[in-house]
Amino acid sequence: MTFETLGVIPQILSALIPLDYTKPTPVQAKVIPLVLEGKDVIATAQTGTGKTAAYALPLLQTLARKIPKEMTKRSIRGLVLVPTRELASQVYNAITSYSKDLHVNSIAIYGGVKLTPQTNKLQKGADLLIATPGRLIEHLQMGNLDLSKLEMLVFDEADRILDMGFWNEIELLVAQMPKKRQTLLFSVGMSKSVKRLGEISLKKPVTIAINNQGDFAKKVEQSIYLVDKERKCELLSYMIGSNNWHQVLVFTRTKQSADEVGKYMEESGLKTLVLHGDKAHSQRTKAISAFKEGTIRVLVATDIASRGLDIEDLPHVINYELPGDAEDYLHRAGRTGRAGKEGKAISLVCKEEKPKFKEIEKILKYTIKGEFYKGFETKEWAEKEAKKGTIRAKIDHEKANKRSIGIKKKREAIKESKAKKGKK
Ligand code: AMP
Repeated sequence: MTFETLGVIPQILSALIPLDYTKPTPVQAKVIPLVLEGKDVIATAQTGTGKTAAYALPLLQTLARKIPKEMTKRSIRGLVLVPTRELASQVYNAITSYSKDLHVNSIAIYGGVKLTPQTNKLQKGADLLIATPGRLIEHLQMGNLDLSKLEMLVFDEADRILDMGFWNEIELLVAQMPKKRQTLLFSVGMSKSVKRLGEISLKKPVTIAINNQGDFAKKVEQSIYLVDKERKCELLSYMIGSNNWHQVLVFTRTKQSADEVGKYMEESGLKTLVLHGDKAHSQRTKAISAFKEGTIRVLVATDIASRGLDIEDLPHVINYELPGDAEDYLHRAGRTGRAGKEGKAISLVCKEEKPKFKEIEKILKYTIKGEFYKGFETKEWAEKEAKKGTIRAKIDHEKANKRSIGIKKKREAIKESKAKKGKK
């Protein structure tokens, strides 16, 4: 099967060549023909499956069929709603590259940046808008935007949009949109609220489920290291340093622990930046590009960042803490092993997090055996072994202590030299 046999036009095929999209992914093979036929579609697909192109290619192709005359102001005919600004700019970049040989204009609007440049762009007009709900509503309320000509609506990561508490806004938005339109809904899971959104916004939808759990397991090598909470930072820096890993995405549950882990990594001599909701848009963009370019080794991020980050060929994702929402495990681990490439997803799990991992395993539909990282065995294990009086426990514990002292000394030295530099 090729994109051509799915009915994709030559002006889009030419844009896929430099991107190396040689054949459609399963979600693309199913969704593209349906959208081109004008059907409403609900698709459940994980991140990394190629879902953006699955909706964006037929969306662009449909919009390109009716390009207005040069002199007339463009009206918004397509709208892609996304949960986060990172995803908005990622989708915008993908759409811009897919439409390089088409006369379809796109704009992305999202919060965290000034309104005026976006207002100016909106006033010039565009065919396609990629937006986060909050900022979209702001522009609508300011009268900067008219959705009366909308023909196609896409919800990307609908579950996350609703998780962020946008139900009322979305309901209101949908009620204002023209009834005669085509709607596509993409979501990782099918919660009650996603189903409800489907009911109020789609007409006779075709439902597609891409079950790629098996693929996911094959592509992403997943490990769990059981470790005491207070030794996680130490293990993390040791693991990255001793394995000589150079592009590691680390996830924490809270902004505070992201900052703490970031500080620890920097003090351990690993170039690190932190990405979370309190960072300004410019800081976030800077952190992402530094990570992509390889000028930093470690990027510590909270879950909001995990949705919008598309770094191809990312070799290592480490869960410093398990996510609050078990489904986010898939989103996080989905940053590695993208589009057929292999990757490693490692979780550092402390005693308190074991029940959470059981929940994750339910979603994964398979179990992952927890193991110890040599020298970082838990106190509980050491005590049990000590009771048994095994020699191995003694040796391992002594080694762990020595290693711990070594790492601490190294951090102290780095801190000291930084402080000296600061004084100069
Ligand atoms: P997505 O699930 O849309 O975030 O896509 C995940 C990654 O797969 C992105 O880096 C895309 O550029 C890439 N991708 C999407 N479709 C294809 C394809 N047909 N062939 C190769 N890579 C693809």
